[in-house]
Amino acid sequence: MNHPLIDRLAADERVQIFSSLQDSGQSPYYRTMTSSTGATSNVEGVDRIMLGSNNYLGLARHPEVIEATTEAVRRFGSASTGSRLLNGTMSLHEELEAEIADWFGTDDALCFSTGYQTNLGTLGALVGPRDAVVIDEYAHASLRDGLRMAQTSVLTFRHNDLDALEEALVAARGGSPDQVLVVVDSLYSMEGSLAPLAGIADLAREFGAALMVDEAHAMGLYGPTRRGWVEETGTVDAVDVTMASFSKSSASCGGFITGSSELVTGLRVTARPMIFSTSSVPAATASSLASIKLMRTDEGAARTEAVRLNSLLLRSELGQNGIDCGSGHSGAFWSPIVPVPIGDDFRAVHVWNLLLERGVYTGVAVHPAVPATGAILRLCVTADHTEEQLVTAARAIADVLALTRPDTAL
Ligand code: PMP
Repeated sequence: MNHPLIDRLAADERVQIFSSLQDSGQSPYYRTMTSSTGATSNVEGVDRIMLGSNNYLGLARHPEVIEATTEAVRRFGSASTGSRLLNGTMSLHEELEAEIADWFGTDDALCFSTGYQTNLGTLGALVGPRDAVVIDEYAHASLRDGLRMAQTSVLTFRHNDLDALEEALVAARGGSPDQVLVVVDSLYSMEGSLAPLAGIADLAREFGAALMVDEAHAMGLYGPTRRGWVEETGTVDAVDVTMASFSKSSASCGGFITGSSELVTGLRVTARPMIFSTSSVPAATASSLASIKLMRTDEGAARTEAVRLNSLLLRSELGQNGIDCGSGHSGAFWSPIVPVPIGDDFRAVHVWNLLLERGVYTGVAVHPAVPATGAILRLCVTADHTEEQLVTAARAIADVLALTRPDTAL
């Protein structure tokens, strides 16, 4: 018999919904991948077009990345067996941090085992109860959770709305905080929208607030040297704390902060996930390093261009099939994340299953990950998708949407 605490957890609405989906065999969650991730992936024994991974540059099965990772495991073994503070700092970690600082032109960088821990540790160390943090309503959960850890006062502003940001900054200042920090993602993971960073940076400066930008999805995709949206928008000097994750374009696992030596040294000795959690394993550290090195080469540039063209192609194919993916990003402003609005959660799950049967794996977001009746398919293109795959997928999506239209009897 379970303790009542466990019974209470089991009765949670989310658990109930998940269990009924699992029982019906229709759950889009926790499905089993049976190969590495690429333009196609083997999902439960069947090859499908993979439109649901963050492997934007297609590096997850790149031979150079695999070779560097294998070599690191041979040399450093399987584990790091301690936190960075103690025995968990290997020359690989230092090499990776030096590579990032060199790329970003910053004093230093600090790598954590996951992007989630990076945000948790950084915000937990940087701000506290006497400060105020102003954050975009769609900022990633790891940023939100970092603010909980910091026990700071939080003001949320409407997504990408500069007037709302200004109002929030006025309100924050009204509480006479010690310091104010503005926190935003650059490329939003569900909506595929890009932050108006120049305006955000101006406001932060005007109010004397510090600015932290999460570049998890944008690193490798934007800017003359592909460092991210901060570089593309010319706001490098206005950003105090730059964060990114290794789990998207850099095809690994981990995250980092880069900036001044004072920031990095401060986090090195105060960020709790840095001190109390084991450092990233040699395989992950080496694949991050190999991917970052590749991203800086001409091949990296060519892969970025391929994702851009593929994202425009998928949007245009969907558009030609009558599917409106929102205002979108055309020309210079594109996004590898293409959200297809579905609306109802049950319809979204049904659509997802029909697409899987037709050989297309997509991401799906239902409430509470998105607002109620705001369910979406989250499509992500990679550099390796072929035109044929994207055209096939767009047609399949259009067919399935037509088949499941609310006015279509099933
Ligand atoms: N920030 C953003 C914007 C993210 O989307 C994510 C994860 N998807 C994270 C941080 C956390 O990164 P990780 O998956 O490396 O823990």
